[in-house]
Formats: sequence, C-alpha cells, structure tokens
Amino acid sequence: MEGALTARDRVGIQDFVLLDTHTSENAFLDNLKKRFNEDLIYTYIGTLLVSVNPYKQLDIYSKKQMDIYMGVNFFELPPHIYALADNAYHTMLAEANNHFILISGESGAGKTEASKKILQYYAVSCPSVSPMDRVRDRMLLSNPVLEAFGNAKTLKNDNSSRFGKYMDIQFDIQGEAVGGHILSYLLEKSRVVHQNQGERNFHIFYQLVEGGEEDLLRQLGLESNSQHYSYLVKGQCANMTSVNDQNDWRTVRNALSSIEFDNGDIQDLFGVIASVLHLGNVQFESDNKACSYVLLSNIFTIQVLSPFTVDYATYARDALAKAIYGRAFTWLVNKINESMENKEHWGTTVIGLLDIYGFEVFYVNSFEQFCINYCNEKLQQLFIQLTLKSEQEEYEAEGIGWEPVQFFNNKIICDLVEEKHRGIISLLDEECLRPGEATDLTFLERLEEKMGSHPHFVTHKLADKTTRKTLERGDFRLLHYAGEVTYCVVGFLDKNNDLLYRNIKDVMRESKNAIVRECFASMESDNRRRPETVASQFKSSLVGLTDILMSKEPWYVRCLKSNESKQPGRFDDSLVLHQVKYLGLTEHLRVRRAGFAYRRRYEVFLQRYKPLCPATWPHWKGLPADGVEVLVRHLGYQPDEYKMGRTKIFIRHPRTLFATEDAFEI
Ligand code: ATP
Ligand code: MG
Repeated sequence: MEGALTARDRVGIQDFVLLDTHTSENAFLDNLKKRFNEDLIYTYIGTLLVSVNPYKQLDIYSKKQMDIYMGVNFFELPPHIYALADNAYHTMLAEANNHFILISGESGAGKTEASKKILQYYAVSCPSVSPMDRVRDRMLLSNPVLEAFGNAKTLKNDNSSRFGKYMDIQFDIQGEAVGGHILSYLLEKSRVVHQNQGERNFHIFYQLVEGGEEDLLRQLGLESNSQHYSYLVKGQCANMTSVNDQNDWRTVRNALSSIEFDNGDIQDLFGVIASVLHLGNVQFESDNKACSYVLLSNIFTIQVLSPFTVDYATYARDALAKAIYGRAFTWLVNKINESMENKEHWGTTVIGLLDIYGFEVFYVNSFEQFCINYCNEKLQQLFIQLTLKSEQEEYEAEGIGWEPVQFFNNKIICDLVEEKHRGIISLLDEECLRPGEATDLTFLERLEEKMGSHPHFVTHKLADKTTRKTLERGDFRLLHYAGEVTYCVVGFLDKNNDLLYRNIKDVMRESKNAIVRECFASMESDNRRRPETVASQFKSSLVGLTDILMSKEPWYVRCLKSNESKQPGRFDDSLVLHQVKYLGLTEHLRVRRAGFAYRRRYEVFLQRYKPLCPATWPHWKGLPADGVEVLVRHLGYQPDEYKMGRTKIFIRHPRTLFATEDAFEI
C-alpha cells in the first residue's frame, strides 16, 4: 500500500551490516533512532552489540526472555545483550578457549547495567550441577556490595562507577559457573574527602548512616543523619530521590552475610566506614602555629600529637581518610575473591567482563578525570587494534583482496600520555621527584616545554588567540578521541604522590580494628624504597589488563547515552551522533561489511567440522586447506560466502557458520 510504513521503515534494521548501501553516519543515526523510538535499544554490527540507554525499565530482562535466547543462534532473534552473552558462552564451550566482553561508552551510557545483565544471564541460564550453587550466588551478590563501596552519584550518573572492574567468570567443561575473580582498578579515593557541587560520596556512607540499625549506629557512635558528617555534605545533595539508601542498606547488609563475611568482618568493615566519618568531623585549633592533637579515640583508641599547622593537620587527616578507605576497598575485593574462588574444578575456561568508569568531562577536570579518560583512551586503542587494525593487517597477511578503510587511530594520544620519558605521566613523575622545588605550575611549564607542538595538547601559552579565551593559565587541554577536555593542574603532584605520614601509618598498625591493621601491615615493609606513583601504578595495571585481554577472544558492547538529562525515551541526535563518530562505529561497520565475520585456521576448522563430510571423516590425509575446501563445497558454501587465505578460511557472515553448526544436529 502506497504511503504505508513497512515494519522495516518503522523499526529499522537489526543488524547494521544489512543496512542497504549506506554506511554514512546519518543513516546510522537514523536507524538507531527508529529503533530507540520503538523501545528497541539493541542493534548489531555483525557480532558487536550497540546499546542505547533508554533511561526507563523495559520488560526485556525476564527469566522468560532469558529462556528464549538460550542456545539459539545469534541472528535468529532480535538483538539482545542475552544473545551476545549466550553466543560468547557457547563459543567458549565449543572451542574450549577464553573470551572477554568489553563494555565501553561514556559515563552514564549503561555499561554497569549491561555487565549486570550478562552476569544475571549466566547465573540463571547456565546448567547447575552442584546442589548448592554458592559460588554463583556470591558472584551475583558481589555486585551490590562493590557498587555500594565503589559507586557514587556524579553529575553524569546517579550510580557512577568510580573504579574499574574486570571480572573473570570461570566455567567447567559442562558449562557450569564454578568460580569468579575480580581485578579492581584505581578507585577515586579523593571522593571520600571532597565532592563537587551536586555530587555525593560513595553510596555506602549514606546507606550506613540512613539505614543502619539503631544498635549498630550507637556502637559506632554515629548519628542517623548524613547532614551531621562533613565528608557527606560537600556536594550539598546527601539526599536524592533516585536512590533509596535505606533499602540499599538492607540489600548490602544481606549480601555481605551471604558472601562468607563473618560477624567480626562485618563489624570491622562498618567500623572502618564510621572511622572515616568521625575523622572527617575532627577539627583542629591553632595553638601557636602548631595545632592540638588529633583524636582518633572512638575507633582506634589512640591519640596522636600533631606538630603541624591547622592546614597541614587537615591535609594529613584527609590523606589518612583516603588511605583507610582505599585500602579497605582493596581488602573488600580480596575478601570477595576468596569467597568466589574455584577450589575444585580443573580445566576451566573463562569469560571476562570489563566494566570501567566511562569517559567524562566536567566543568572542572582534575587528576581523576585525567586517569579515567586515559583508561578509556587505552580501551579504545585496544578496540582499534583488535578490530580495525588487526583485521586489515590480517587480510593483507593472508593475501585476501581488500579495500582499506580509513580510521582515526588514537595511539597518538595514548603515547602523549604514557610514553616513557616523554609522556605526560613521565613528566609528572619527574616533577614528583623534586619535593620542595616542584609545584603543579612547574609541572605545567615542563609540559609546555616538551609537548609544545603536539597536535593533541594545548595550554594558554601555546594556544592561538581564539582558543586562549577559553583556557585558564593553570590548565592544559587534551584533544581526546572522545572530545576535548581541559584539566586544571591544581593537585596533580599531590594526588600522584599520594603520600601518607609515616607516623600515622605506624599508628594504624596498632589499631584495634583488624581490617585497618591488616591493610597497613603488609605494604610498607620496605620503607626505603620510594613507592610507585599513582599514575605509574595505574599505567602498569592497564598494561597488565591489556595483556590479559589480548590473550582472549573479544566480544564488544558499545553503550551510547541517549540524552544528558537522564530522561526516559529522549533521543538527542547530536549527542548520539557524536558518540557514534568517536567510537568509530561507522568505520567498524565498513570493515565488517566488506570483511569476514569469522576466520579459523584450517586445522582447527577441519578438526571441528570434518564429521559433516564423508571425504574428510574420520581422517583427511592431504593438506588441511584442501580438506577444508572439500568440506565447504560438500556443505554447499557459495563462492562469495568465503575466502581461502594462506593459513585460514574466512567466512563472510556468521549465518553461514551457524548453518554448519546446525548440520551437526540433523
Ligand atoms: P559510569 O561510567 O558513570 O559508571 P555506566 O556506563 O556504567 O556509567 P550505568 O550506571 O550502567 O552507566 O547506567 C546509568 C543509568 O542509566 C542506570 O542507573 C539506569 O538508570 C540507566 N540505564 C542504563 N542501562 C539501562 C537499561 N538497559 N535499561 C534501563 N535503564 C538503564
Ligand atoms: Mg558504571
């Protein structure tokens, strides 16, 4: 009927690879928007999943939905996070190798929600042989606990991850989830003592104060009102409507009991939280330049005489609060890991889930944003290497005819930040080695000296007239892959050094609180060695993470933020388009459309599928490549569906392979 909308006009296309001939950004946006307006938030680019945050609860995450997606071929059903989770899982079992799911996108785009959906899918859908599936429950329960301690309200996201999280889920050969392990990355400790206007401290503080039982609060000497604590009111929004601290408290409290935390541990853990709150309320009075003593008596029953000025004492107090919280967080992750440890099963394979803090730009950006955005830069680089770059290099190496696709490679920005001796982190570390002489401003001068002509680096001094107006003297600006960010250098040296006075550490080692004692006991055994700076540590941990990921098979979820005001159903064209551009989604699509979704070495392919052809079963005597050729002809592959490389067969579309997999069942 003329003028009537076809289903396709209305709901768009569920796999961008099938999108007519257009790979333009506008056509891409148009398709996303059509689907979004129909509450279809997921779309594929081949096996990559694009997800647009709906900011409303959709009825697509029920057990019934999970059952629908279980064991069904990827492209047979509408795109879903469950389909991706299921596909990764079945590929892992069929090929007995390790996988990871990289979830990326800016702050508030939906990464943490996606990672929780994946974990829930595995917890509910995977077979369960053990009568009591404690490990699986603990994996699920670790989420609310870590979110309470590691997430907070920011201006971008009411539940923003303030640490990076990589979690391995270990499966045995039957596909049962038998263990888990979490690696955490750089917690934003500064939030413990300071929050910007409109932001909050970590959730756990408010949960304890607002939700904690009377007895418990009395024991800890706490008032049941967050307004009472100076560390909780810096952002002037302790109470917020989108979060129910009292309910969340009960969830976290129950989760802790179920994850092998005994009562002593739990008491000590809340003792730590309370001690930080008490510390924040400690005031200093000037007494002839030195100030009166710091009283930590409630929790630590120890008094420390402070020879410092008021400013110094306040500074030392905050440093201590950050150190206690940061170390307790590490303790918590270790404890959770112990409880999820796989003690019985050998020969497991894993699916790793990566959910980190997303790229963020605020009105004022500091060392924390610098680290977070650098981390996102590294993950984008990994994505580029694994998809755009290696893909094209592989076609070349395998002698497959290929029209190269141009893309922006953000390696130049990664280098700017992390290169040895020349990168921003190295220069920052060098300044940190000159105590007394160096300041945040001398650090900025060093940057100006060394980075002068770098295309992705600007300061007030180096900027042209128009840019200069928008830059303050103490700022530097990086042109990140995801956009420009202006960083204020104030606090860079201090935060990078992250020093704690030695006498305070000694006091902590004497604490009556077992967690505090443990956290301060082990690390400082060698006092002479200068501890690695925060940025350097972070850099090495990200290199470690890259190595972990590079040894596994990748799956990608790219999360997009639909609007800045967290409004349900609102799709802001320019905001989404900007993300589509910087995430390189259309380039990815072009490579995918022209390329091959699946490739396997001839030996591996033959080994798996040889039972499907009488000529190759049970043994093929010739070259593996010839065997594969015979095999795929027998299976009826059309010439344009595959190509034979030097060492591998390349298959254009996963559908072809799914049909082959199905042939096993016939
Ligand atoms: P950050 O980098 O700040 O940690 P993030 O990408 O992890 O951000 P989330 O915390 O996952 O972002 O999502 C932010 C909010 O968006 C959620 O609290 C939820 O309200 C909403 N949201 C995200 N994904 C979905 C979804 N699939 N369905 C409904 N709401 C969602
Ligand atoms: Mg998050």
